[in-house]
Amino acid sequence: MISSSTISELKRIVGSHNIFTEKDRLKDYSTDASSLQYMPEIVIFPEDESQISRIMKLANSYRFPVYPWGAGTGTTGGALPIGGGVVISLKRLDKILRIDSVDMIAEVQPGVITSELQREAEKIGLFYPPDPASSHISTIGGNVAECAGGLRAVKYGVTKDYVLGLRVVLPTGEIIRTGSETKKGVVGYDLTKLIVGSEGTLALITSILLKLIPKPPYRASILLHFKDKTGAIECALNIIRRKIIPTTLEFMDSLSIRAVKISHPYLFKGEIHSLLLIELDGRRAEVEEDVAKIVDIGKKDGVESIKIARREEDIGHIWEARRGLSHSLYNLRPHKISHDVVVPSSKIKELMHFLETLMD
Ligand SMILES: Cc1cc2nc3c(=O)[nH]c(=O)nc-3n(C[C@H](O)[C@H](O)[C@H](O)COP(=O)(O)OP(=O)(O)OC[C@H]3O[C@@H](n4cnc5c(N)ncnc54)[C@H](O)[C@@H]3O)c2cc1C
Repeated sequence: MISSSTISELKRIVGSHNIFTEKDRLKDYSTDASSLQYMPEIVIFPEDESQISRIMKLANSYRFPVYPWGAGTGTTGGALPIGGGVVISLKRLDKILRIDSVDMIAEVQPGVITSELQREAEKIGLFYPPDPASSHISTIGGNVAECAGGLRAVKYGVTKDYVLGLRVVLPTGEIIRTGSETKKGVVGYDLTKLIVGSEGTLALITSILLKLIPKPPYRASILLHFKDKTGAIECALNIIRRKIIPTTLEFMDSLSIRAVKISHPYLFKGEIHSLLLIELDGRRAEVEEDVAKIVDIGKKDGVESIKIARREEDIGHIWEARRGLSHSLYNLRPHKISHDVVVPSSKIKELMHFLETLMD
């Protein structure tokens, strides 16, 4: 239990308008997308790094637990105060400090919403590829602390592939800088990689240096419907065998399709057992060449129908089924368990077979 004198000290650090202890307000910080529930004693909103450092020094002296909080969309419960104590919200550190088009980097505070950075980078022809499906609500700090993936991981990798450096506050309150602004930053231990994905257990991230790349000038999406259960899997493997690297390559099985059909009946006509959703980006000629190859592969693998979208609104329509998937799968509760499973491409068929045995 945190004493009232400690609460007073915390108020002196952040101001009484940046801290609360009322039960009804604490409740909002007692759960995230994991649906676990643990009540904090205090929620605090520091406004800068030096305040965070002072909070950490206090926590270290009085031995109370602290939990960094981005937007609370985590599915692993990492932000939840399992031992009571203080939730430190990074909400007030929400500035994009700079986007440099020569060095192709962005420096951001942790509370920036990911899609906001993506939008700002794209305004000057740059691109921040990691794109978790929560990018419109989750923070960059949370993405870094979770090493978030996302739909574009097939081609562009995950968050850790874009973090060049960090400023962090250690549990002692000490502030350190890791990494460098250059792409070739090879000297010394890689503390950046150690902290990325550490879910707030090692340090509190206060600033993030991110690598950006040129925005791909052209994109196209392809939706392939298969009547045959295994057609989509074969097609996906053949796409990889032909050395095509799509931005996104998503598979939906008959159960997922049935779930989406309940909420989006207009999206599917007839009997579909599996589908592939593919996005390609890059130079127009290269993308169109890959589209033609994928159509060819699909036909050989018994595709039932193919839709190709090149205009933004058509691309949006094609992806509607995928966007609706997470929510639609709630229709299957209580027989639904969400898990990210990772296997090498060569083991996908084996994995699908194993999952089918689980469903029986
Ligand atoms: C609809 C939906 C879709 C999702 N899609 C994806 C997806 O496609 N890919 C994916 O990988 N994840 C996905 N997620 C999970 C989640 O969005 C991500 O894990 C996201 O990175 C969490 O960000 P957040 O700002 O909400 O962090 P929070 O949930 O607040 O915190 C997550 C973890 O980061 C720590 N943390 C937060 N900020 C800091 C900081 N500044 N310093 C140190 N530690 C910190 C917290 O302590 C906690 O351990 C999804 C979640 C939802 C609800």
